[in-house]
Amino acid sequence: MSENYDLIILGSGPAGITAGIYAMRAYLNTLLLEKNYVTGGQVVNTYEVDNYPGFPKITGMELGEAFENHARDLGLEIRREEVTGIARDGQGFRIETEQGAYGADAVIIATGTRCRTLGVPGEQNLAGMGVSYCATCDGAFFKDKTVIVAGGGDTAVEDAIFLSRICRKVYLAHRRDRLRAAKILQDRLMQLDNVEILWNCEINEIVGEQQVTGVEIFHNKEDRYTGLDVDGVFVAVGSLPNAQGLSHIADADQNGYIIAGEDCQTSTPGIFAAGDIRTKSLRQIVTAAADGANAAASAVRYLEDFHK
Ligand code: NAP
Repeated sequence: MSENYDLIILGSGPAGITAGIYAMRAYLNTLLLEKNYVTGGQVVNTYEVDNYPGFPKITGMELGEAFENHARDLGLEIRREEVTGIARDGQGFRIETEQGAYGADAVIIATGTRCRTLGVPGEQNLAGMGVSYCATCDGAFFKDKTVIVAGGGDTAVEDAIFLSRICRKVYLAHRRDRLRAAKILQDRLMQLDNVEILWNCEINEIVGEQQVTGVEIFHNKEDRYTGLDVDGVFVAVGSLPNAQGLSHIADADQNGYIIAGEDCQTSTPGIFAAGDIRTKSLRQIVTAAADGANAAASAVRYLEDFHK
């Protein structure tokens, strides 16, 4: 028979960990499942977090570690297992993982997002051979080399800034003539001598045999193509929800994000969605943490009725 918990939380990003902290303070018998070996979700891919109150200049890895220590100090049980499915089981839910199965009276889904790919020729075969989705993880391999970053959001601009400290030259290819990133990041970027922004440009193909040697660029305003020699390509073109195996359990929008309001209640009683996986307008560490608190509070209320 599988172990039964009051609450199972899926994911250890800021939403999942905060939900865990609040659940422990409410004395819920709680399990947190995380498929990765490190805690923090996408936070650990950020070199320097400078918008989480009280922790200026902390690295993503340090913040992830601090999250885990805080939750464990309160007694939260964290298991490193990948969830493969979730189904209704009587009044509660059954969570399948690669190692086994667990029962839960309530579930908080805080599985976050993953990187979107460009979907261009060469990207898949050269992944790990010059194509990267994580500048802080792979940047060091490109010391004194030339790289190109694709995207115009916070991630792309942060990546370009980070890579400018390591690489000889950094190109930033953005498909429009205006960046989406926070103004403070744009200002920092513009001050860097070794960064060149390629406006209205899209990477059309990534070239190389065993290793990236260049890209073909489509200049979308001029309808022409040019080649550019680069040693690495950093893809930072947004994210997709991590809802594999979960989407049937609660309603999602057309992009796969689980529909829930600020109380994190989904279309299924007992299932809550928190953090980047939830339909919302601002995806930040601090809004994910806020979701975690709201989701746990909603779960506490739900379980009070459930256990009556
Ligand atoms: P994002 O904000 O969705 O930006 C994605 C960027 O990629 C956009 O500039 C978009 O262009 C471009 N893009 C999308 N598909 C493309 C394609 N197929 N080809 C070329 N370009 C494409 O994604 P993000 O930067 O990863 O950020 C995700 C969320 O995390 C955001 O809410 C962001 O604020 C947050 N975040 C915050 C921080 C921070 O606060 N320090 C750091 C990282 C991320 P368009 O602009 O033309 O749409």
